[in-house]
Amino acid sequence: MCVGCEARFRVLEVTNPQSYRLLMHELAQDIGNGKLNELGDLPSIAQIVQNWPLQNVDYVNRTVQCAACRQGFVISVETYHGLGGSWRPADG
Ligand SMILES: [Zn+2]
Repeated sequence: MCVGCEARFRVLEVTNPQSYRLLMHELAQDIGNGKLNELGDLPSIAQIVQNWPLQNVDYVNRTVQCAACRQGFVISVETYHGLGGSWRPADG
């Protein structure tokens, strides 16, 4: 695991819209500068951040992978109420 992932390697409960938004902004930055690669569905994390608040997505579940060491992480949040979610290392 790389140094960047040691800092990311934690379970973070997302309990309110502000912490969710902050986390998504951080992720969009790390994806934009190439530290993380996003795997999977549209809209992308960057699109979600740019179009905040996103009206038509009730549930966000995205996997990102470290560009340096391939460690995976999952962000999973129910956006309809802006709570009930987490950031966590991917299994395996
Ligand atoms: Zn890493």
